[in-house]
Amino acid sequence: MADAHVKNPPPAIDGNALVSMCLSRAGIDRMFGVVGIPVTSLANRAQALGVRFIAFHNEQSAGYAASAYGYLTARPGVLLTVSGPGCVHGLAGLSNAAANAWPMILISGSSDQSLTGRGDFQELDQIAAVKPFSKFSAKATDITEIPKSVFSVVDWAVAGRPGGTYLDLPTDVLHQTIDESEAERLIAEALKSRDKALIEKPRIDNSKIKKAVELLRSAQRPLIVFGKGAAYAKSENELTKLVESTGIPILPTPMGKGLISDKHELAATAARSLAIGKCDVALVVGARLNWLLHFGEPPKWSKDVKFIIVDVCEEEIELRKPFLGILGDATEVVGMIHKEIKDDPFCLGKTHPWVEAVRNKGKDNVAKMEVQLSKVVVPFNFLTPMKIIRDAILGVGSPAPVVVSEGANTMDVGRSVLVQTEPRTRLDAGTWGTMGVGLGYCIAAAVASPDRLVVAVEGDSGFGFSAMEVETLVRYQLPVVVIVFNNGGVYGGDRRNPDEITGPYKDDPAPTSFVPGAAYHVLIEAFGGKGYLAGTPDELKSALAESFSARKPAVINVTIDPYAGAESGRLQHKN
Ligand code: ADP
Repeated sequence: MADAHVKNPPPAIDGNALVSMCLSRAGIDRMFGVVGIPVTSLANRAQALGVRFIAFHNEQSAGYAASAYGYLTARPGVLLTVSGPGCVHGLAGLSNAAANAWPMILISGSSDQSLTGRGDFQELDQIAAVKPFSKFSAKATDITEIPKSVFSVVDWAVAGRPGGTYLDLPTDVLHQTIDESEAERLIAEALKSRDKALIEKPRIDNSKIKKAVELLRSAQRPLIVFGKGAAYAKSENELTKLVESTGIPILPTPMGKGLISDKHELAATAARSLAIGKCDVALVVGARLNWLLHFGEPPKWSKDVKFIIVDVCEEEIELRKPFLGILGDATEVVGMIHKEIKDDPFCLGKTHPWVEAVRNKGKDNVAKMEVQLSKVVVPFNFLTPMKIIRDAILGVGSPAPVVVSEGANTMDVGRSVLVQTEPRTRLDAGTWGTMGVGLGYCIAAAVASPDRLVVAVEGDSGFGFSAMEVETLVRYQLPVVVIVFNNGGVYGGDRRNPDEITGPYKDDPAPTSFVPGAAYHVLIEAFGGKGYLAGTPDELKSALAESFSARKPAVINVTIDPYAGAESGRLQHKN
């Protein structure tokens, strides 16, 4: 019989509980992943402490979700995986975060330290495996190292240029225990010794702000380009003030779209070639001069253009060697530029020849595109359904839906047809052109912005990478409508030359072909979601109206002519 006078020992905290406590103290409130040995208890513990765990089927999708969650919330998105193969699957998300400069933490369980090198269950040198894709990694080799390791991976993920970090948690460490007061002491100590330099933003050189203003003021044809770094920094208010006070035309990158509405009268998206080809000074905010911006070089850009690059990453500025580089947070720098101009304001005005040229070219191109869009083509090409989808999305109003887009033709056409009116409402294949991000991004967007509808517009090939996650949509009842442009394969129908259809496997399906007429809408019905098949404008309009107002998981399978579109979309020359 228990002696009533004997005091109960203080509750023991194991590694799982301690990691969860630290994540929660570090402000992590969401986690994406796939559970299994040795991290199931970690997910349960974290959930009990208020860290919502979104359980996926595949670490790859969960990783893409974590990366996008980091972008949308400016706090690290966390992916939890099992050891060995789980960690390797997680590399997809981690590398995507690195390529897009989004903050993310991969946390993987790992095998027992005492068995290293002897072929333990799912054994792998995970620290070595993550190295190319992480800016910092930590392995807690003892339970007492957990608090410092957790706070370090959180701080490193958001420091400077955001990116991926990695935390390795051996099985034996997750099972070690300490008492509660010792856990609290270790947490307090680790919080106190957090590296302040990581959290601080770089100091902005005021003389460079003045120089930028002089350049913009004296430019004949200035342009302001902004990208997902500015979106991440939530620079929309500062950019709007700067643009409206100076009257300088604007060009967002694909995910910069919406930071200032695509409908803004200074938007140069529809006059992109003219804007980048003729501008003499380009203020580039939170966007890299990489392939998406034609490396800032001729023939797309003028050879004399003077770039002013605003970036939080010093190496980026050193790499591009702009006329003027300003190191600092986009919101702060743009705010300072605007303030500097306010003292001696200038505004190009509507009748300025450059503003007029960009506006007229834009209007011309929009009118031409509208002629194409107004044609009703059945069997569907890409444009007819895209216009119907554009109008349905615009019809939702504010808060605007988050649009997720992937697939060669579907994404290319969607980029020019779909309209973004609010910041951070477009997620696409991004810097790396990553296919397979669709469902993960949808889930991240729905979790990050519960007030918004999420609409994925993706090719059947892109959808296929993560299609099983439709079950995840249904399980969590997320307001996500996935529209699949189904043209029966990667780029659509079989486009091989006759001389490529030869050899012993010539009767196999073409490498680009899928089963024709695949019933993707039925897939979600297997789990209790709603599926629609749409091959005509009326069918599509009615499916959109019903699913948008229901705000429940749905898949609309849109039948597209297999020979509409082009191989490799806009990048045929690379294939
Ligand atoms: P896009 O694809 O839209 O062109 P990129 O991903 O190529 O955008 O570039 C984003 C850039 O923004 C990166 O160079 C990154 O270092 C930078 N960046 C990230 N956060 C900030 C911030 N807070 N302020 C300024 N620049 C930032």
